[in-house]
Amino acid sequence: MKQEQFESFQKLLRRLNANSKFYKGKFEKAGIEIEDIKTPEDISKLPLTTKEELRDIYPLGLQAVPDEEIVRIHSSSGTTGKPIIIPYTAKDVEDWSIMMARCFQTVGVTNLDRVQITPGYGLWTAGIGFQFGVERLGAMAVPMGPGNTDKQIQMMIDLKSTVLIGTSSYGLVITEEVAKRGIREDIKLKKGIFGSERWGEKMRKRIKDELNIEIYDIYGLTEIYGPGISIDCDCHSGLHYWDDYVYFEIIDPVTCQPVKEGEYGELVITTLKKEGAPLLRYRTRDLTRLIPGECSCGLKYPRHDTIIGRTDDMVKVKGVNIYPGQIDSLLRNIEGASSEYQIIIDHINGKDTMTLRVEKENGVDPNELKAEIIDHFKKRIGILINSEVVSIGELPRSEKKSKRIIDYRYQ
Ligand code: ZN
Repeated sequence: MKQEQFESFQKLLRRLNANSKFYKGKFEKAGIEIEDIKTPEDISKLPLTTKEELRDIYPLGLQAVPDEEIVRIHSSSGTTGKPIIIPYTAKDVEDWSIMMARCFQTVGVTNLDRVQITPGYGLWTAGIGFQFGVERLGAMAVPMGPGNTDKQIQMMIDLKSTVLIGTSSYGLVITEEVAKRGIREDIKLKKGIFGSERWGEKMRKRIKDELNIEIYDIYGLTEIYGPGISIDCDCHSGLHYWDDYVYFEIIDPVTCQPVKEGEYGELVITTLKKEGAPLLRYRTRDLTRLIPGECSCGLKYPRHDTIIGRTDDMVKVKGVNIYPGQIDSLLRNIEGASSEYQIIIDHINGKDTMTLRVEKENGVDPNELKAEIIDHFKKRIGILINSEVVSIGELPRSEKKSKRIIDYRYQ
């Protein structure tokens, strides 16, 4: 940890202790005196913050400044239970747009680009976060929001959009539509920036090859500003994160202890400069690793790897932990298997069963592919599964996030 970063960290602790009822309470409960945090090594003594705690203090229990300083709120989607509300000050909004503009600069977007923004606007942070970054950079925002693929394609052609922003699943929907209509020549796209979802190398490759664009992975979460705290560069060897704003740690999700350098685990983030809703050692539930060393692009910001899954997507089948990220990487090495798959887990006659449904590429023999998938799975992940091979387009597509694991065991 750089000295400058540690100073920001100590300042954050003082602010939390003085202004955040939530954190003051946590420090007292854990018996922590913030003056005792004297070196970066002491950080691991500080309590972690969980999503459940943020739900418990709904709606504004995280707010750490007076009401008159709050200019906006955003909220996590809250698919289960209460959502999490995050209040922002004017400076938080500005800092976020600075980080987003930095993301665009990292991937070579300039003020001559036209950026079609397909994530949602509103309570969810994505759309407006991209919008502010585009405007800060001086490029032209085309604020479409999600869905309505006909209109998206029409605007893409008429306005000559050069950058497409969305989820990778939606990128695939657009890619398939462009191919179906045979209109690649009519669109001017050069780059795609996709995020908010773990996505496989094969899906990435299909979008890249079929649209003939360069694509980048962007990361972020509502609790920590929103998207734009990291992005991959032209080297595509990890995502650079803005360590003047956020401090990253990787912990073992079960023991909560730091992992060894370069190992995979759960990403834990501290916001170094946030005012409205600062977070200390927040457990993101995202699984990744920090990449040691410097990137060959020359950028000095440190890197983390692609998100390989979430701690809560992890499923235990026949006693083995399985992350969807492992399935992506397995299928990448099997010729003839497409990027789309679905996992169905059940408990039949006292035993766990797992079926991996995979789309095959055209011209591939389904029985051979099936045998190969079962064999690879047994060798790499260690359990015997069933497989079902289907044609391209048979598995469900979604404009938001593809649901890849269906677990009937607890229903
Ligand atoms: Zn780089």
